[in-house]
Amino acid sequence: MRIITTVEEMQTLARELRAAGSTIGCVPTMGYLHDGHASLIRAAAEHHGTVVTSIFVNPMQFAPTDDLSRYPRDFERDKIIAEAAGCAVIFAPTVDEMYPAGFATTISVGGVSAPFEGAHRPGHYDGVATVVAKLFVAIAPDEAYFGQKDYQQTLVVRRMVTDLGLPVKIHTMPTRRESDGLAMSSRNVYLSEEERAQAAALYRALSVGVSTIERGERQADAIVDAMHAVLSMIPGITIDYLAVADAATLSTHETYAAGQEVVLLLAVRIGTTRLIDNMLCTIGG
Ligand code: AMP
Repeated sequence: MRIITTVEEMQTLARELRAAGSTIGCVPTMGYLHDGHASLIRAAAEHHGTVVTSIFVNPMQFAPTDDLSRYPRDFERDKIIAEAAGCAVIFAPTVDEMYPAGFATTISVGGVSAPFEGAHRPGHYDGVATVVAKLFVAIAPDEAYFGQKDYQQTLVVRRMVTDLGLPVKIHTMPTRRESDGLAMSSRNVYLSEEERAQAAALYRALSVGVSTIERGERQADAIVDAMHAVLSMIPGITIDYLAVADAATLSTHETYAAGQEVVLLLAVRIGTTRLIDNMLCTIGG
């Protein structure tokens, strides 16, 4: 496996790979890899001669109050997990390489960036869109693989790719979960034993939301109340948002129509750890 740290080297390698007939699948990550990341690498490896995994903890998508300085890192372990999953190249630039002195360009996606994470983390999706665009310029992938775990992020990236006409096909892959349903996340390492047990309530709440819809409920209030009842039993959970929204636009409605695809979205804080999760569901007829 090759480790590349500069944009120029990455671009040269991408050109060489393409000239040699290989397509490139790319998996952008912030490292501290787990099986969710590995599942994206495996999916990319099924379809591409070369998988490039980027590992870059992107300061631009963290607010000053966020967890940038304590974000977990273990590059040696990441190399082993990435290679075992089928990664051929790790692109791991430094902050100075990605944001050279005087950096002054931001990609700001409107619409789907605004609610939920966008409202709670101002500037977050500007940071995401800008870094993903820069990664695409460096890696020149044919296709890129993202996790449904960060559902709103996938919509933001798809919007940007369409609007800028970037020649990259975006895939959204299913969320990998622990045995009790908790979505795998690099941030789960922050949780104490007690908090870790409490965190399983996120999955239970989303599952209750889905079963409420499957029983025929179409009213947003009733769906959200059912999920809220699960979370409210857990002491120490603070809800940032808990919602049902149109899966394509993230617009919210009082009542959803039969056949409409919706996403159940939540963000909570348990102690000092902020966790997000979601599930997709179709409103019944
Ligand atoms: P991160 O390192 O948290 O920025 O995540 C990098 C990529 O992995 C993003 O596309 C995430 O959505 C995806 N990802 C994170 N957690 C999971 C998971 N549990 N299952 C599937 N994909 C995930």
